[in-house]
Amino acid sequence: MAKIFCVANQKGGVGKTTTAVNLAAGLAQLNQRVLLVDLDPQGNATMGAGINKAELQSSIYEVMLGLADVPTARVQSETGRFDVLPANRELAGAEVEMVELDNRERRLKEALNAVNDQYDFMLIDCPPALSMLTLNGLCAAHGVIIPMQCEYYALEGLSDLVNTIKKVHAKLNTDLKIIGLLRVMFDPRMTLSQQVSSQLEEHFGDKVFKTIIPRNVRLAEAPSYGMPGINFDPSSKGAQAYLAFGAEMVERIRTL
Ligand code: ATP
Ligand code: MG
Repeated sequence: MAKIFCVANQKGGVGKTTTAVNLAAGLAQLNQRVLLVDLDPQGNATMGAGINKAELQSSIYEVMLGLADVPTARVQSETGRFDVLPANRELAGAEVEMVELDNRERRLKEALNAVNDQYDFMLIDCPPALSMLTLNGLCAAHGVIIPMQCEYYALEGLSDLVNTIKKVHAKLNTDLKIIGLLRVMFDPRMTLSQQVSSQLEEHFGDKVFKTIIPRNVRLAEAPSYGMPGINFDPSSKGAQAYLAFGAEMVERIRTL
């Protein structure tokens, strides 16, 4: 059975997609079978995996509305090492169209069930909102990975996300846990980064992943080549960090 994780944070631009794509690539390199689920109408995870979001035969939009199944809609990443359930801006319409459907917060969970035995991991890249799409992600998942930048405003909004996760846990999905907070775009030369990082460790203890992802320009360049940073420049500090994070995840789920 696949372990299913959401990469979520309702703040925009905090590194969710970079984390989802590179964790997918990192786990694939550790011989795990991975499905990367793009749950964001921006389609950034789709593009970052080397798939042209403008030329999709079908996408997660059809899957959520019951018009296609996952085996029909999924595609292989450019590197071929993991599968992608792709998205594009059509998905924004699903939010409205799902209003009339039964069990609308469980559409993704039901669709992913059909391929559960084909993967070791499914990683869901959530949009920057606590929306019906994100709710579908949280209902489908065993846990949430929260990427955070270590800056002054990072903790603001975290309580909204944590409360949402608690509510989903209580009412919709008792499996759901916070797997951990991942420090990303970290700049060790900044005193503030160090301070926020220590605060996170004090408040959240072992819910903070040991691996820290540094700010690294190679990670930012990779999507324009349609490649995860891990494959684009394997020796870069960013790639090495995400590979280490993959290993930490494999280790951590043993204790779940
Ligand atoms: P959104 O909320 O819009 O979906 P996001 O949370 O998915 O955004 P990303 O798209 O992963 O965030 O990252 C935002 C920007 O920061 C991108 O341009 C990305 O390339 C860059 N970036 C992410 N992580 C790093 C890093 N460790 N070092 C340098 N740049 C990074
Ligand atoms: Mg994103």
